[in-house]
Amino acid sequence: MDDVVILGGGVIGLASALALAHEGLQVRVLERGEPGCGASHGNCGTITPSHAPPLTMPGILRHALGWMLRRDAPLYVRPGLDIDRLRWLLGLARHVNWRDFHAAAAARAILLIQSRERFAPMFKKYGIEAGFEEKGVMFLFKDQQVWKQEQTQVAMLNDLSIAVEPLDSAALHTCLPGLTPAVVGGLRYPGDAMLRPERYVAGLEQAFLHSGGKIARETDVLGFRTSARHIDSVHCSRGDYPAKRVLLAAGAWSPLLARQLGLRLPMQPGKGYSITWGKTAGVPDIPLVLKERSVCVTAWADGFRLGSTMEFSGFREGLNRTRLHALRRGAAEYLKLPLLGTPSEEWWGWRPMSVDEVPIIGPSQRWENLHFATAHGMLGVSMSPATAALVADQFVGRTPDFDPTPYDPARFGL
Ligand SMILES: Cc1cc2nc3c(=O)[nH]c(=O)nc-3n(C[C@H](O)[C@H](O)[C@H](O)COP(=O)(O)OP(=O)(O)OC[C@H]3O[C@@H](n4cnc5c(N)ncnc54)[C@H](O)[C@@H]3O)c2cc1C
Repeated sequence: MDDVVILGGGVIGLASALALAHEGLQVRVLERGEPGCGASHGNCGTITPSHAPPLTMPGILRHALGWMLRRDAPLYVRPGLDIDRLRWLLGLARHVNWRDFHAAAAARAILLIQSRERFAPMFKKYGIEAGFEEKGVMFLFKDQQVWKQEQTQVAMLNDLSIAVEPLDSAALHTCLPGLTPAVVGGLRYPGDAMLRPERYVAGLEQAFLHSGGKIARETDVLGFRTSARHIDSVHCSRGDYPAKRVLLAAGAWSPLLARQLGLRLPMQPGKGYSITWGKTAGVPDIPLVLKERSVCVTAWADGFRLGSTMEFSGFREGLNRTRLHALRRGAAEYLKLPLLGTPSEEWWGWRPMSVDEVPIIGPSQRWENLHFATAHGMLGVSMSPATAALVADQFVGRTPDFDPTPYDPARFGL
């Protein structure tokens, strides 16, 4: 019997697996595909304390209602009668108030900053080469009003220990000559960073295997064998895996597995897209967020990616051409892009979005040997090292380096 069986081999499952193996526990990851085949694959790879403020800023609903039904808008809600999705959207709307906004920003900031500090030592310790660069991230604006509005958050971010530097048009166009004249202002977040997510996931996987961990690939978790308040084993397409403890880290699919245990996780998939090219000359080498279009631009030594946008269309799989075009069109409004040619990959993925935009990390109340590490939304890569550290502390009974209360599954009665 394994000490810990982890459901899901994305960035959260693998980072947690590595941290638990490092504690001397016998750990097995169950993954229905290959490790890293979910949201952790084609995301933008930015490490962003800058993103501590959640989406639910008062005032968002006005914009959101305008966008919601436009198929190429940065935020799109697919019409349809899906009760779970409707309930979740109403729940999210209830968090649009200043008290919840500040509480979520503070909780997210802690996990982001704690993670940011852990990346470099972790890469050194395990010899992971993931194209990690500490270059900061630049937000770009075309609309003076939006730029001014965003600057109202500078004091709050500074209070959360997140540095921000506003840059006017002249300063921006000097330091980034490839911008179009439409760009009127920017915000630089010097504490942000970047990495190549596919290589990060591969590095975690290798380090975990070298630490004696086991991965069951192409192993679909189908259900659970339970007795009273205990999970005895995890029932999979390739047989049953008995475990002393179970960590649910299945990203956007987590609520589907939790339902098998009679638990309702307040989460929805937030679909995003990306387009990737090989090494590309003539693109800014600092990661960019093109604010009004919600497009993220990342250039690594070996590739170039446009990504992001948020779509709530339930568990509807596949690429959406309209939204892929919107990424390219949006980028061309801010950047003088070189001729990009045929992409090496077009991709979609589901962000695991929790209703209060705060991850769910900690023990279950209902099941004595179940633990959660999920719902990292738009920030799973950025939050992975501190999530893993918290999970390891909780499993071995050590006092964590930061207060785990904001992430406690108990807030949802789980
Ligand atoms: C377009 C886009 C851009 C993004 N950009 C960034 C960024 O720049 N920075 C950042 O920090 N975050 C970013 N994110 C968010 C980030 O990708 C996610 O938060 C993160 O990958 C979630 O990791 P995870 O391990 O929880 O989920 P996943 O990576 O989705 O992993 C879950 C795993 O569980 C497996 N699984 C599911 N069901 C089962 C089952 N029944 N049995 C076995 N296995 C199962 C899946 O196959 C999958 O591999 C972005 C996301 C998107 C979509």
